[in-house]
Amino acid sequence: MQQIVRTIAIAYNNLPRPHRIMLGSLSVITLAVAVWRPVVYPPADDTPVTVKEAPISTAPTPNQTVMSPQTIAPEASEPMDSESIEQPTPPVAIPADELGTTGSDDSSVHEYVVSTGDTLSSILTQYGIDMVDVTLLADKHDDLRNLKIGQQLSWAVNDDGELQSLTWQMSRRETRIYERGDNGFKERVEMQKGEWHNRVINGRLSGSFVQSAKAAGLTDSEVSAVIKALQWQLDFRKLRKDDNFSVLLSREILDGRSEQSELIGVRLNTGDKDYFAIRAADGKFYDREGSGLTRGFMRFPTMKQFRVSSNFNPRRLNPVTGRVTPHRGVDFSMPVGTPVLSVGDGEVVAASRGPDTGNFVEIRHGRQYTTRYMHLNRLLVKPGQKVKRGDRIALSGNTGRSTGPHLHYEFWINQQAVNPLTAKLPRSEGLAGQDRREYLAQVREVTPQLKFD
Ligand SMILES: [Zn+2]
Repeated sequence: MQQIVRTIAIAYNNLPRPHRIMLGSLSVITLAVAVWRPVVYPPADDTPVTVKEAPISTAPTPNQTVMSPQTIAPEASEPMDSESIEQPTPPVAIPADELGTTGSDDSSVHEYVVSTGDTLSSILTQYGIDMVDVTLLADKHDDLRNLKIGQQLSWAVNDDGELQSLTWQMSRRETRIYERGDNGFKERVEMQKGEWHNRVINGRLSGSFVQSAKAAGLTDSEVSAVIKALQWQLDFRKLRKDDNFSVLLSREILDGRSEQSELIGVRLNTGDKDYFAIRAADGKFYDREGSGLTRGFMRFPTMKQFRVSSNFNPRRLNPVTGRVTPHRGVDFSMPVGTPVLSVGDGEVVAASRGPDTGNFVEIRHGRQYTTRYMHLNRLLVKPGQKVKRGDRIALSGNTGRSTGPHLHYEFWINQQAVNPLTAKLPRSEGLAGQDRREYLAQVREVTPQLKFD
């Protein structure tokens, strides 16, 4: 914990003055989130994980490596002289079937739904966007400080990871688009003039879910929304012929065409079981009781928190060659044989061995999340195996391209590697109080509409 505070302090002090002002005004909440997350998301009672009591390392903080290129090759990490060991092997986890042929697979475009505690800087920096870009954008456009829960952001970066454009869907009616020009970012406002109509679409499985849903009349993005909403409840690959689904959408019709749509609720019946996911005011989906559909994730893949020997850095520069050798995960220095835990419920999609990664495990958590664990000594799981949060999946090691005993840990969201120490983790909490009452009223209205033919 102290390390994180120190890292932030060091990073803060090394920034030019305008950035410090920016950070001070914009990211107080970010700091709180970054520092407190390990406590905010404690492991379940049934796991012996004690993040709170993690011993504080007194060794020189390795996080300084980020700030000083001279010390960028720590003792227990991957060697810097090689191409990155995590070379462009995106997780194998997401079956093509679930993605369909949606254009949203473009890895340079990212989507995000604003949730509690988010700020523009906390969202963008967790995806590796430079603070300079965030400052350039937010300094000129104050309104971006007023992000609201449930609003959607999407953005595009170029090959160098620089922010090119940001789209802020403020409401159904209003969208703001910021595009990089010669003098910073220019704002454009788009107002929707169409009318919104609700529509129920029913279907029956014949072939894959994607095929069946499209045959029933859903668009690519609507299919994706349905899969995303139900991802924690069921595995779409295990659906069977003649399973029923019913989808309630709100579509905006402009000049007789559907311009955009929003998923309101979905019901899917398989093996005599009904699964529901209904949208709440925060833009997230819950079951009929308003319970969260995800179990929270652990921040660290070990029982206690180990020293970080090399940080996440998608644009890490090799000081010798001057080449970018991305570090898509974080390295924790730890003795060989340390139990490595799955950070969330999921399914093992790879447990294997590579020349660079050494023994490694890859776990898929729902549709959007994938975690990877490398340089392991002994694997304790097999591909296809279901794991629960906190389960032992391996013993740490020093295999593959590694300069000392350590665990290389990656966290991927939507096919993009993010910083495992600061990434927004799925929350397990459901709705409470007034939010829940409003949600249950919505459920009473939506559920009866989700009838099968
Ligand atoms: Zn590493």
